[in-house]
Amino acid sequence: MIYNSHIHTFKDADIPRGFLPLGLVRILSTKPGFKLISRVLNNINPFSDNDAFDRYVKFVEIGRLGTQEDIFKECQRFYPRNSRFGVLAMDMAYMGAGRVPRDYADQLKELGKLGQKHPEVIPFVHIDPRREDYMSVLKKCVEEWGFRGVKVYPPLGYFPYDERMYPVYEYCQKHELPVITHCSPFNPVHFKGKKKELKKLLQKSRDKIDTRGMSRKVMCSQFTNPLNWEHVMADFPDLKICLGHFGSSHYWKEFLDNPGNEANWFLIIKGMIEKYPNLYSDISFTLNEQEFFPMLKVLLQDTALKPKVLFGSDYYMVETEATERRFSIDLRAYLGEDDFMTIAKDNPERFFHTKMK
Ligand SMILES: [Zn+2]
Repeated sequence: MIYNSHIHTFKDADIPRGFLPLGLVRILSTKPGFKLISRVLNNINPFSDNDAFDRYVKFVEIGRLGTQEDIFKECQRFYPRNSRFGVLAMDMAYMGAGRVPRDYADQLKELGKLGQKHPEVIPFVHIDPRREDYMSVLKKCVEEWGFRGVKVYPPLGYFPYDERMYPVYEYCQKHELPVITHCSPFNPVHFKGKKKELKKLLQKSRDKIDTRGMSRKVMCSQFTNPLNWEHVMADFPDLKICLGHFGSSHYWKEFLDNPGNEANWFLIIKGMIEKYPNLYSDISFTLNEQEFFPMLKVLLQDTALKPKVLFGSDYYMVETEATERRFSIDLRAYLGEDDFMTIAKDNPERFFHTKMK
């Protein structure tokens, strides 16, 4: 039995109306509109924020499959029978991109049901501390609907050490519930509200941030910086945390070209993993690029890192079919059974283990 520690099954109805500019979300939500616009825009690329558009098209293509169960099965078929999946919910109501068509509670309820029907699903509830009564949401998910962990997504506009998150971490630490956080910079899913508002959110930083000349993506990456988690780990030493995406392909590539740059998130995460016994990192999304397979292989020969890396694919955030095959078969063949089983079985077994029943 193996684990894919990091996938998503949320639907297009869970994405806010203002995710793209110019009312495009509304146009794309009709079938003819989607066909036309996606074909035209895929060819002419008029956006500065083109990856947000590509991401949204992916959301709609997969989100259209129907239920979260349908989306899950589309991923499951690429993996051996009995494989387990960490399935991460998304609460995008507070990212300043307008109304989300479906209630977050409905997304969670559906995911909870999926977990009850398919015990190989390990549901994670995303907590955004701006949601009213988020502690009740968390407790209901865990105690009634069988959720087994918490997802944190800082680039939407909150710091990991936000004091409103502390009761969440306390609860997780007490029940041995693992936390998975998004940890790559410059991604298209980030705070989209007014710049003035974003600057205000950034003022909650514990370190001084000079936003002059910073693009929105760089600004949103300040929330995501792996070093922010040092504060959380100092206060919750027994909390199991996974930094998703291991800093991203951006920083893996940067490391290959310029290994001495100490501000590189890949290096920062590597150092943190060696230092903190309950800190993990997953390779989802990042290892979609085959050029990084050798670097991962070398990394896994390091005895301090080997027990802390988790296998995951980030389905369906990258193009689907080729990706799932690349993760499930190509990577396994490249690493060999021994290293593959370490990151896809031994490490996730430890990470996902919880007191909750
Ligand atoms: Zn993800």
